[in-house]
Amino acid sequence: MRGALIGCGFFAQNHLNAWRDLRVEGVDLVAVCDSDEGKARMAAAEFGIPRVYADARAMLQAEVLDFVDIATRMQSHRELVELASERGVNVIVQKPLAPDWSEAVAIVEAVRSNGVRLAVHENFRFQAPMTKVKASLAAGAIGRPTWARIAFRTGFDVYANQPYFRQEKRLAILDVGVHVLDLARFFLGDVERISCEAQRRNPKNLGEDTATMLLRHLSGAVSVVECTYEARIDPDPFPETLLALEGDRGSISLGPCLTARFTHDGVARTEHLGSPLLSWTSQPFHTVQESVLNTQRSIIDAWRAGREADTNGHDNLKTFALVEAAYEAARTARSVVPQAGGA
Ligand code: NAD
Repeated sequence: MRGALIGCGFFAQNHLNAWRDLRVEGVDLVAVCDSDEGKARMAAAEFGIPRVYADARAMLQAEVLDFVDIATRMQSHRELVELASERGVNVIVQKPLAPDWSEAVAIVEAVRSNGVRLAVHENFRFQAPMTKVKASLAAGAIGRPTWARIAFRTGFDVYANQPYFRQEKRLAILDVGVHVLDLARFFLGDVERISCEAQRRNPKNLGEDTATMLLRHLSGAVSVVECTYEARIDPDPFPETLLALEGDRGSISLGPCLTARFTHDGVARTEHLGSPLLSWTSQPFHTVQESVLNTQRSIIDAWRAGREADTNGHDNLKTFALVEAAYEAARTARSVVPQAGGA
């Protein structure tokens, strides 16, 4: 598989490390592109990538590629996905898929009409603790899931690495809520309706920095989904997502430090759900960093097997529909039925 990366900024460093790890599995990053050519040059030098571009169109004309991995911010996703898909190149694109619903749908439609594959780089469900919890649910660890609390709460200075957050009109729900809502779907299935209270707790932010959401799933389960960049808590679990899942035969509680408590028919046990550090990962970011590798490997494996990735465009629109419904619910102070996700 021959790929190229577009966007060599803050988060792309994790993509680059993960692609380097995947070289032994036959995936070659043959080019990098950033409109700030210096960043592309630095990435190429550090990761041994042969060719550098400052213009994605020029790169797509010059290179023979199986896929591009787009790690730019959401405002450029549509244009870049259209460019790649018109040239018959499969696309991986960072979350959030787009700034709003109409652009997200346009992206999914572009890849469909050009007959290429799309995978959204939605990595939270590929964090080791989340895949382990999912496997436990599938194995019947708590019986039928009926209730959950899924919480990403931090006061870590996320603005240092992502200063553009301050100016986003839609911040917490679109940036990190999208991950936590995706987890809610991952664990409990699709959603019938959602309500949401949004807050701007830090006046330095233009958009909401906190959201508390209540979801009724089609299965009948209920979940509370929380996200904030403005918690003042100790210990601060950043960047971990904490879980409480209850079913008719037991529960799973994932606390800080990746320690989970399981109960099943009245018997309790504790398990550490972390995984060993990789050569390029470090605490406390390890779980997120490793999930980037897991995400990219899962996408490539699916495509090689002739399947759509788990986080394909159709799937991700269902998560994106929850983001839009949460904003609508917060605006109207009502519960909202999410749009049908499929395109
Ligand atoms: P960034 O601004 O640090 O990097 C983006 C890079 O893309 C910049 O270097 C910029 O020059 C380049 N770029 C922009 N438009 C381009 C174009 N048309 N062609 C080529 N290069 C272009 O942004 P970031 O903080 O790394 O965020 C990038 C994406 O990663 C966002 O979608 C963000 O939501 C996502 N992200 C995900 C996670 C996660 O945990 N999954 C964490 C952080 C960021």
